[in-house]
Amino acid sequence: VRAALAESSGGPGRTADGVAVQLLANVGTVEDAERAAARDVEGVGLFRTEVLFLDRETAPTVAEQTEAYVRVFRAFGDRKVVVRTLDAGADKPLKFVEVEPEENPALGVRGLRTSRKHPGLLADQLTALAAAAEQTGARPWVMAPMVATGPETAAFTAQARAAGLATVGVMVEVPAAALRAGSVLAAGADFVSLGTNDLTQYAMAADRLAGDLAELLDPWQPAVLQLVALTGAAGAAVGKPVGVCGEAARDPLLALVLVGLGVTSLSMAPAAVPAVRFALSRTTLATAQAMGAAALAADTPEAARAAVTALADPEL
Ligand code: PEP
Ligand code: MG
Repeated sequence: VRAALAESSGGPGRTADGVAVQLLANVGTVEDAERAAARDVEGVGLFRTEVLFLDRETAPTVAEQTEAYVRVFRAFGDRKVVVRTLDAGADKPLKFVEVEPEENPALGVRGLRTSRKHPGLLADQLTALAAAAEQTGARPWVMAPMVATGPETAAFTAQARAAGLATVGVMVEVPAAALRAGSVLAAGADFVSLGTNDLTQYAMAADRLAGDLAELLDPWQPAVLQLVALTGAAGAAVGKPVGVCGEAARDPLLALVLVGLGVTSLSMAPAAVPAVRFALSRTTLATAQAMGAAALAADTPEAARAAVTALADPEL
């Protein structure tokens, strides 16, 4: 019954009282994006561009990248597309990037940090994104991964704007960036997007790939939700969008908590969208805010889930 109800309605994400919460797709390849474009989603909230760079001996040229971005932008037309710049390093090593062996790759030169030693990689990617935007008339949102500080945000956003990109932001997936989200936004980000996979890993000091640590890696952990709340409040204070593009967004009850904590868009695997849309449609913003407060007041993920379930529409 629940699945049938969830599938029966479509369209943009809205709370029961009509507050818009964009429902977006996470995509990992051009083909993925083309498939997602045929689904009932409001756009792309996370285009992971690593696949263009992995398993190659050399970096893709600006022309090769432009062609790929053009296909994605064409597929989505007027819909929003958020592109993440290369998130290399750690679990995603690149053959043509010489990375000295690191003791702790997850804490090493990865994400935006890669561009310190290899500035050409990011410069070329931004050039290709701007060229694809120009060719298609698209207005992509572009964000950098693994940003920790305001100055890193300032440097990235300035470089992206200089390349010709209009809407520029950063991911919040390092606890430092969440704790200082106000500074990150003030440093020049038009928006932020919470990567709850890495945010959870770093907040809980638990390797995201370590199955034995599943309990610590639960995005319902109150400490993680507190970082989300800080980021949501910082975004609300200046009226800038705060998205979530980590796995947390696909859990309907947790999605409500995220919205209650100030999140304005949710990005997930397209298959997860209908259930989240349905949960939103059954919940007012005030109830979502009460859920957010209840989750923050809980001491454990289990207690948070129970408190939120008690506030939820019985259909959920
Ligand atoms: C995240 O960290 O939550 C995220 C969306 O990025 P990725 O999973 O690609 O690291
Ligand atoms: Mg991440």
